[in-house]
Amino acid sequence: MASITRALRPLSRTTPSLRSAARRPFPYRFAQSTAPTFSTTSLRQDPDLSHLTPTPISLLSETETFLHESVSKFAAEQIGPKVRDMDEAEAMDPTIVEQLFEQGLMGIELPEEYGGAGMNFTAAIVAIEELARVDPSVSVLVDVHNTLVNTAILKYGDAQARRTWLPKLTTGTVGSFCLSEPASGSDAFALQTKAEKTADGYKLNGSKMWITNAMESGIFIVFANLNPSQGYKGITAFIVEKDTPGFSIAKKEKKLGIRASSTCVLNFDDVVIPKSNLLGEEGQGYKYAISVLNEGRIGIAAQMTGLALGAWENAAR
Ligand SMILES: Cc1cc2nc3c(=O)[nH]c(=O)nc-3n(C[C@H](O)[C@H](O)[C@H](O)COP(=O)(O)OP(=O)(O)OC[C@H]3O[C@@H](n4cnc5c(N)ncnc54)[C@H](O)[C@@H]3O)c2cc1C
Repeated sequence: MASITRALRPLSRTTPSLRSAARRPFPYRFAQSTAPTFSTTSLRQDPDLSHLTPTPISLLSETETFLHESVSKFAAEQIGPKVRDMDEAEAMDPTIVEQLFEQGLMGIELPEEYGGAGMNFTAAIVAIEELARVDPSVSVLVDVHNTLVNTAILKYGDAQARRTWLPKLTTGTVGSFCLSEPASGSDAFALQTKAEKTADGYKLNGSKMWITNAMESGIFIVFANLNPSQGYKGITAFIVEKDTPGFSIAKKEKKLGIRASSTCVLNFDDVVIPKSNLLGEEGQGYKYAISVLNEGRIGIAAQMTGLALGAWENAAR
């Protein structure tokens, strides 16, 4: 996605938030092609661009170019000085998380009605890559929150769920996506966490492993099997809030890299949640997981290309 020349371009002088980036008119400064530039993913409120000749995805739109520069500057100035300390402490500085919300980086693709920046998937990927150039731990926090948690609720939550959870996720509450378990990694749909119906909701029992953002999160999307006799077709997505009785963060993993990013074991012991915490429809969780992981994986790829660029730049200095 990025070229070294793009990565080494001098930073811009201001760090405006994404919300203003989405609205601001920009000078055309990236590609001097005669064909208009646009990403392969259209902005939600963009005019119809289907009649235009597509350009390679590496040519960013003006909005994406501005975003790239502002995130790059934010990462270098605000995150850069804290990277080593956060890595040694194996903890994310809470001020950084606050700044991510202030910058609009925690609702990149969400519509403005929920407090989001109303930008597109390419914009999210640009931001994830730019953050990873400076700190892949911060980058993965933003990736999981945007491409997995926000996307799952925006795509599969009903109107009530979107109104309940998305404004929180854009203004101060971090999210986690909880699929993996001790005995189900790649084979995610062999998951053992169970859900049962109660009179007015659901009860969850089981455990999850390697859950990113667990220490910072207030909202957890949890996949559990509501009907094990149906195999993976019983898998259902639920939303669990941090303070729900019976829910606990059991253990934080010690890792070799991205040490400031929390990766934890979660336990669910008779966790009772209301009906309204069902995400989408019962038995559709496996479809939701596959769909959002397709985006999440592109986010992780952007994290890796950003990491590689940052390593190259540091080595060259
Ligand atoms: C830092 C970190 C953060 C994470 N964050 C989250 C998170 O937020 N939420 C979440 O739900 N999970 C998370 N995970 C878990 C992650 O999704 C799993 O690690 C991943 O699904 C792989 O599972 P596994 O580690 O059990 O490896 P395994 O499934 O045991 O795979 C090990 C190796 O075997 C290969 N393999 C597996 N099955 C096959 C097969 N059938 N054929 C051929 N090769 C195969 C794999 O490609 C891999 O190379 C995280 C993991 C890490 C390391």
